[in-house]
Amino acid sequence: MPHEPQTGHVLLVGAGPGPADLLTVRALRAIEGAQALLYDALVGREILDLAPPGCIRIQTGKRAGRASMKQETINRLMLRLAAKGLTVVRLKGGDPSVFGRVGEESAFLKAHGVAVEIIPGVTAACAAAAQFDFPLTHRGLARRVVFTTAALQPGAPPTDWGFAADEQTTLAIYMGGAAGHDLSARLIALGRSPSTPVLAVESAAGPDARLTGGVLADLGALARSANGGPVLIVVGEVAALADRAGLPLPDHLPAAIAQRA
Ligand code: SAH
Repeated sequence: MPHEPQTGHVLLVGAGPGPADLLTVRALRAIEGAQALLYDALVGREILDLAPPGCIRIQTGKRAGRASMKQETINRLMLRLAAKGLTVVRLKGGDPSVFGRVGEESAFLKAHGVAVEIIPGVTAACAAAAQFDFPLTHRGLARRVVFTTAALQPGAPPTDWGFAADEQTTLAIYMGGAAGHDLSARLIALGRSPSTPVLAVESAAGPDARLTGGVLADLGALARSANGGPVLIVVGEVAALADRAGLPLPDHLPAAIAQRA
């Protein structure tokens, strides 16, 4: 059913991994110009404070497992605010196109005649790689990187993990902290070596960032969040290149990690 065009518009904006200086300049301008700000739980105070004083602020998400606003409610809210002629900024952690529901929100808004602009952000995997000095792809070690998740919608069919068997594939696993044990078993069953280097990076890019590293066989223990922050898991040979200066080392390490450490 066609809808009358509305006057306001919505910017779907990536807030990056946390620190304000990892926002894009375009994202910064969008936040500074926001009249209404709908933000996810991963977006920190430093970034929210960049919005102008009169801006309407609405938090839409809570952390892991606790109640969040329903997607349908968020969609309706964005629509209502845009219909008032406001410039609405929908702010998401990292990049909105990576596990950020940007497709659903953009399609909904456009179907209702609202103009949408998407502004990218630094996704957690890139932030973790930069902070701890390891590449996601590397000549001779990793020819591709896959952004994937261990979390599935209830009732969704199991993911075919065949892509993960190739030892030159780096896996950047989002929302996987609680599933480390399952992931480890699944990847080893696929043929990935139990001694494949892995990392768990908690709160990448922030002041409390925490890196733990080890091997695939131990992923279950490594991947648990220690301080309640978001955890990104990295599986693949590139994990051996991470800079572990000053960080505790697990007992049994592949030679490549031990040398670098
Ligand atoms: N759009 C976001 C991802 C949202 S899904 C992005 O592009 O980064 C939420 C998951 O992202 C978390 O469970 C965690 O796996 C990861 N994540 C987000 N921010 C993170 C951070 N600062 N450090 C580590 N992992 C992070």
